[in-house]
Amino acid sequence: MPVLVLDLDNTTFDYNAALAGHVLRTERRVVPAQVPHYSFANSGWFADTDHFLRTHREAVRAGLFAHMAPYPDAIETLHGLREAGWYIKVATHRLIGGIDEHLVRASTLAGLDRVGMPYDEVHFVADKHTVPGDIWADDKPRVLTDLDALGLPRLAYRHAYNAHVPGPGVGSWRELGRYLRTFALEVSAAPA
Ligand SMILES: [Mg+2]
Repeated sequence: MPVLVLDLDNTTFDYNAALAGHVLRTERRVVPAQVPHYSFANSGWFADTDHFLRTHREAVRAGLFAHMAPYPDAIETLHGLREAGWYIKVATHRLIGGIDEHLVRASTLAGLDRVGMPYDEVHFVADKHTVPGDIWADDKPRVLTDLDALGLPRLAYRHAYNAHVPGPGVGSWRELGRYLRTFALEVSAAPA
């Protein structure tokens, strides 16, 4: 069966919207709508990276991971893929920024359960390519280019900050589902 290695934040779940909501509630501040750089500080959301990490930690302690909303059609698409035989490995780098590890793990699992997300494994890992799979889906430019350098199939979940990375990408979960169904047909049709 084909194995998908799937990122959570800004690939499956709308991290940007969740963090923007936290900033609005706690700092009474509206962040810029666009995130042109893979750095919230460089995108004008925070004064610097320390400010971002501090806010991120506060947001996680306030339940960010447990209550984040998935992108439209993500959960339905994952159910469809699983029914079609896909094995889903979640691979997330949420253990950053010196937050209590137990809290991150527990609130992540609670967040997946809350929205009924189907999955087979969860990995907390920075280097996504170390999780074996057939294809990876991620939004982080360095993850995408690392996978490219290793010749591993991957799909970019498109945002302004990864638009410069060439290669296959999708802008919605409907598109992602279509891409993976075609990918599975091509893999099963390929000579061994
Ligand atoms: Mg991500």
